[in-house]
Amino acid sequence: MKFTNILRLLVLALLFHVSFVKAVSPQEKKPKNIILLIGDGMGLSAVSTSILTDSTSSFRKFRFIGLSITCSADNLITDSAAGATALSTGHKTNNHYIGVTPDTSRLVNIFELAEKYKYSTGIVSTSSITHATPAGFYAHVAERSEEFKIAEQFLESGIDIAIGGGRHFFLPESKNGKRKDNQDLIQSLDQKGYSYFTKVDDLNNYKGSEQVIALLEDVSLSDAGKRNYSLGDLTTVAINHLSKNETGFVLMVEGSQIDWGEHENNAAKALNEVSDFNEAIHAALDFAEKDGNTLVVVTADHETGGTSIIGGTRNKEVSLGFASKGHTAACVGIFAYGPGAELFQGVMENTQIGKNLIHFFD
Ligand code: MG
Ligand code: ZN
Repeated sequence: MKFTNILRLLVLALLFHVSFVKAVSPQEKKPKNIILLIGDGMGLSAVSTSILTDSTSSFRKFRFIGLSITCSADNLITDSAAGATALSTGHKTNNHYIGVTPDTSRLVNIFELAEKYKYSTGIVSTSSITHATPAGFYAHVAERSEEFKIAEQFLESGIDIAIGGGRHFFLPESKNGKRKDNQDLIQSLDQKGYSYFTKVDDLNNYKGSEQVIALLEDVSLSDAGKRNYSLGDLTTVAINHLSKNETGFVLMVEGSQIDWGEHENNAAKALNEVSDFNEAIHAALDFAEKDGNTLVVVTADHETGGTSIIGGTRNKEVSLGFASKGHTAACVGIFAYGPGAELFQGVMENTQIGKNLIHFFD
């Protein structure tokens, strides 16, 4: 065989190899959009009640399922600060720490990477947006209770839409806030081009493309049972806004108060919050099904309440029983849908969820 023919064959083999590798590489399955939904404190019993009592439960729709080990760097039982940091950065840290290592070095989070590559980013939460879980996606502090400082860090986040509670942390006392340094962070955000909303109707009617901060309550949103809008409604607003970006987006949605119902050992409250969170998952899946290029990942930062399923014998009604008033080290579920969902199967550390998500921006 002539040397040029051998060369031709080699080039052909190389081309075939490249196209073959490209066809099966995870790169090919990179989603355009990522929606991460975190049910704070939502253990497998809470998920089970949704599945058992609701034949249309969103949890029934997932085919890629895993278990997350939620332990933090310094404790088998994590709090939401270390839990959010694991999911947003792929690194374990100590309880109370947000976006920093146990030696308080700054960690890069998925929103920062997304912003760098011109993706849009968004947060929807039923707590104050300065609370530990949402703060995990933009703040870097060694103490989660520093919500006034966390609010200041929101200014530098570049987040494109944030919906939740927390006016007290953004406004000075002279404007019905609780800031003692007299700073008006809403005014600062306005100067950066943000549109500010305090009412859900105004937010729903907004059709513009400016960045949005919607603080619907002074601190956290009302209980799911006492609101005339659901977390699903807020999630849809965020998706509509973020999906204007041709490059893609990353959205974090938190059902914050499942955890609070469980701390109170109040099954009715916890289950109301689970079904509110379920509405948000439906909103995410509806969009993902139509879009075809959106990864939806649902998980929890930890289990709360040592929950079990009680009832279910005679009237087929089930509820949650509790063995604890605090968090537990129980594994929590991971439910994934869309391109890249297969990465979320099996038993994995919570940091692997964060690493998998960050991997899409490598
Ligand atoms: Mg939380
Ligand atoms: Zn808690």
